[in-house]
Amino acid sequence: MAYTYLAKLSPRQKMWFMVSVVAALLISVLGILCEPDTPGQAGNQFTVNMSIREIAPKLGVTGKGLARELALPLDTPKKKPLNELGISQEQLEHATAHILSHRSTGLKYYLFAAIVLFGLVYLTRFGRPDNANISERKLWYPRIPYIVYLLAAVLVCGFVLGKSPNPMEGTVKVFKSMVGLYPSMTSKLLALVFFVVLAIIGNKLICGWACPFGAMQELGYSLPILRKMKRWKAPFWLTNTIRGGLFCVVLLFLFGIVGGRKGFVIYHYLNPFNLFNLDFDHWLILVTVIVSLTLAFFIYRPFCHLICPFGFVSWIAERFSLTRVNIDHEKCTNCGLCIKACPTQAAKGRVLDKLFGADCFSCARCLNVCPQDAIQYGSVFSKTSCEIPPKQRTSEK
Ligand code: SF4
Ligand code: SF4
Repeated sequence: MAYTYLAKLSPRQKMWFMVSVVAALLISVLGILCEPDTPGQAGNQFTVNMSIREIAPKLGVTGKGLARELALPLDTPKKKPLNELGISQEQLEHATAHILSHRSTGLKYYLFAAIVLFGLVYLTRFGRPDNANISERKLWYPRIPYIVYLLAAVLVCGFVLGKSPNPMEGTVKVFKSMVGLYPSMTSKLLALVFFVVLAIIGNKLICGWACPFGAMQELGYSLPILRKMKRWKAPFWLTNTIRGGLFCVVLLFLFGIVGGRKGFVIYHYLNPFNLFNLDFDHWLILVTVIVSLTLAFFIYRPFCHLICPFGFVSWIAERFSLTRVNIDHEKCTNCGLCIKACPTQAAKGRVLDKLFGADCFSCARCLNVCPQDAIQYGSVFSKTSCEIPPKQRTSEK
């Protein structure tokens, strides 16, 4: 099937296909080669004879940030040696290793951008051969390139380069810097802007194609098992209420409005990205990973829909997406095939033209099922790009 599809591409499309693949691979290799020093190496130089004030700047956090990692109150004296504060060497090493595991490998940002770029080019240009015949629509948007990029996201953006940066932490760190846990809010804000811009360039493409934990869930759901259970779709109003409600609760605790413990981050106990460092410093993290990945075999991206703060932020940002699934309402006959193909209620939202429909992860499942050729992935400014002659459309009916 992949061969048939590739054979149908024009020479120009083939060239751009290869250029996108090679560019993305080169950027990925560059990212791996330029990884900064590994966690642990830098952490060994600290001892409990040192004070918070001496250690924190070298770890890139504030005194409050280090105090929080050491489970000390945020207003702990920062000039006292740690052994006088009752901290053991083991506790210090554990805290520094955790802080260093958040150190960003800068070029991972380029890798995220490369995958999103490829996804965008694939969805807008290469997923469907030029002059495609509607009767052959099952050949459009073959899954193989998508699966390959999901695997790259899991392996390279996840296990090879480690958990940070990632979109979830990109969101949370902005709020953590607001309560003084990081020295610079600007860099954290820029990281979040980076992820949101990627979500806007292509509708949630950063989640749908590049996020390593999102990719693991997508791969699990893509396995051809438990098909009957997959027919059930969680009600979006419910999942989104849980996700948004949790976000608000997290902020109330983080700012100390509830609980009186400023700097307390509930997401820390629910962060599945720790999987990529094999760092389960709380049993709840392991439970989150196992439950999310198990449910993902029959529920589409449970972690994204129920917990992830970036999932919530990017769902809001979807309103401003520059490219997305577009439905031509003049051609649409409400046959419901795209709604059936969609693993969420996103296609239903598009058909009904809802402003606040469910998240669309740009997974392309709906793009090759429409018998009226009413669905296109493209710019919001030009809703149709591949017109099929009316005569052919009629014969399809
Ligand atoms: S919503 Fe899912 S895909 Fe998006 S950042 Fe969160 S975990 Fe990753
Ligand atoms: S199938 Fe649903 S989630 Fe996937 S691209 Fe279509 S509308 Fe979006």
